[in-house]
Amino acid sequence: MDRDNISNNNDATIRILLVDDQPIIAEGIRRMLAGEKDMRLSYVEDPALAIEKAVEIDATIILQDLVMPDADGMTLLRFYKANHETRDIPVIVLSSKDEATTKSEAFSYGASDYLVKLPDQIELIARIRSHAKNYIMQKERDSAFFALRQLKKQLEASNKKLQELSTKDGLTGISNRRHFDETLDENLSDAKDNNSAVSLILMDIDYFKGFNDTYGHQLGDDCLIEVASLLSRACLNPQDLAARYGGEEFVALLSGTTEKDALKVAHRFSKMLSAAAIKHEVSDVSPHVTVSMGIATYDTATPYSAKELIEAADKALYKAKDTGRNKEVLASTLTED
Ligand code: GH3
Ligand code: MG
Ligand code: MG
Repeated sequence: MDRDNISNNNDATIRILLVDDQPIIAEGIRRMLAGEKDMRLSYVEDPALAIEKAVEIDATIILQDLVMPDADGMTLLRFYKANHETRDIPVIVLSSKDEATTKSEAFSYGASDYLVKLPDQIELIARIRSHAKNYIMQKERDSAFFALRQLKKQLEASNKKLQELSTKDGLTGISNRRHFDETLDENLSDAKDNNSAVSLILMDIDYFKGFNDTYGHQLGDDCLIEVASLLSRACLNPQDLAARYGGEEFVALLSGTTEKDALKVAHRFSKMLSAAAIKHEVSDVSPHVTVSMGIATYDTATPYSAKELIEAADKALYKAKDTGRNKEVLASTLTED
């Protein structure tokens, strides 16, 4: 019978392995346990086979003789404890020796109990039951703990995935509008506390409708992915955030960044985009894909709310569109109409 059958078929069975060189002892123990319907006794005479047999029957308890001709019972105790498949199985030592030093040594090697041969039937059964119960409970706790740990890992993985899904844009993989909005609020609040600056570069691809009409929606998507990736790479500071604002509009949120430094980021991105040279034959401003940009900065002189900052960048962007495209306009240079 294989191990899985034993453990799966009847988990309530107490599977006892007796290791003793004297068959007469085995016979005595077998008789003592004969009336216990939930106990199944297996016996090995040869101590060399003890561990193999314990694993094979998925032993709940080992009854272990101490003095055998071919093996020292104490050494065998150490072997049980050293083997990961048997180390937790309780071992009740059955010995003809009644000295305290031997008992103490057996316990120090990991025995759970010690009985002098032949033990009293009631006592033997009671001890087997008690140790088996503890062992089974411990195993159940271990497997419940293991299952819980697995569940926790799965939960963490799905939370991470969910977190990614809720912050990333599905097409381009950069941050989405929602994540941008949340981060902008946080950045502005920090900037207020620290008297620092927050800049936005809002950008829109020039003549993108024409691009889609000429090359098809699929290549249009590829273009958006490339522009997003370039913008991400142009944002060098760890706190910078590149996001897809919507359709073919993108935004760089630059925390702790002045207008002057934001302009540098805009120029860096423009250079990268022009180096990428994405063909755009129907653009009126360039043979390649270009963007128009509006830059607005929150600082102590212009303490915008999030909405006002976006509006300022948007106005600057549309000024860039109105005055020829493929350029950036600073919100600070706009005059009130
Ligand atoms: P302008 O220079 O004034 O910005 O002109 P434009 O053609 O870029 O502006 P318009 O707003 O008329 O067109 C935007 C286009 O962007 C139209 C729309 O189909 C396209 N677009 C928006 N989102 C996506 C997308 O996810 N994939 C693709 N392929 N195209 C998109
Ligand atoms: Mg647009
Ligand atoms: Mg456009």
